[in-house]
Amino acid sequence: KRDGGNCFNFYSLESTLMWTRDRLELEKELRAAITNHELQVLFQPIVHAETHHIARMEALVRWPHSARGFLSPSEFIPLAENVGLIDQLGELVLRTSCLASYKLLKLGYSVNVSVNVSPRQLLNKNFLQTILNALHDSGLPPRLLILEITESAIVNDMERVGNILTKIRELDILIALDDFGTGYSSLTLLRELPIDIIKIDKSFVRTLDQNQNDLTIVQAIIGLGINLGLLVVAEGVETARQARILLQHHCYYQQGYYFSRPIPYQALLELINKKR
Ligand code: C2E
Ligand code: CA
Ligand code: CA
Ligand code: CA
Repeated sequence: KRDGGNCFNFYSLESTLMWTRDRLELEKELRAAITNHELQVLFQPIVHAETHHIARMEALVRWPHSARGFLSPSEFIPLAENVGLIDQLGELVLRTSCLASYKLLKLGYSVNVSVNVSPRQLLNKNFLQTILNALHDSGLPPRLLILEITESAIVNDMERVGNILTKIRELDILIALDDFGTGYSSLTLLRELPIDIIKIDKSFVRTLDQNQNDLTIVQAIIGLGINLGLLVVAEGVETARQARILLQHHCYYQQGYYFSRPIPYQALLELINKKR
């Protein structure tokens, strides 16, 4: 307490400066990583929990950073959004994902690929064309592509998002509502938007075998989805017990460490081959 009240201000100012410098450095490195194709796209299987058949896969981006190690998307997606790199990054993930699913199709495996789309990307006026190009260049039929959107992406501009999603859906591409149940207006979105799939957020799945309320909520989400004719996917399934309970409540499509972590394309292919 020697420096009194100024102490906090001094340090927070300094840490802000460091943070800014650090951020500029990171921005430069991210730009280079995108240009040099250093980002990696991993795929996490989404399985039919009864048969463990791999029906879909979610693309999850990684940044192997020489000094900082493997960076997770939560560490650089917000940065990419803020500095205008998200369109480029998103297109890279989209193209890699379409190609991966197309290669599987050529090998005789029909595995839908689910790609996360951030708000900025969705609202970009070139987004539709970017998707069309990625599909065309890869050869992937549109029906094998799923776009995952989160509620935060939408609430500010529901009408515009609705228009874009309608156009995307007319192309035969499926729309998934990610992290379902965590936002403030999940139900409004279901009513207003053309949604095909809901993904039950992993925060509900984690405690569903310990907490009766969470189980009740999950049951309600599953019932809601089924009655609306939607496909319901549970994410963050880590144990056999969670998988079994979800299955008992008619949630057949599941994703999580219990089945597989996100893995490179080649490893996924081996996994699929083994299951045949
Ligand atoms: P998300 O879309 O909700 O993705 C699921 C996250 O849960 C992933 O984290 C995945 O690795 C993790 N996960 C999978 N199974 C389990 C499990 O059993 N237990 C637990 N605890 N976690 C599990 P990740 O890969 O770190 O991605 C974090 C978020 O970053 C994603 O959340 C998504 O919102 C965003 N993201 C990832 N890739 C992209 C991308 O290419 N574009 C955009 N815009 N966002 C992305
Ligand atoms: Ca997702
Ligand atoms: Ca999610
Ligand atoms: Ca999330």
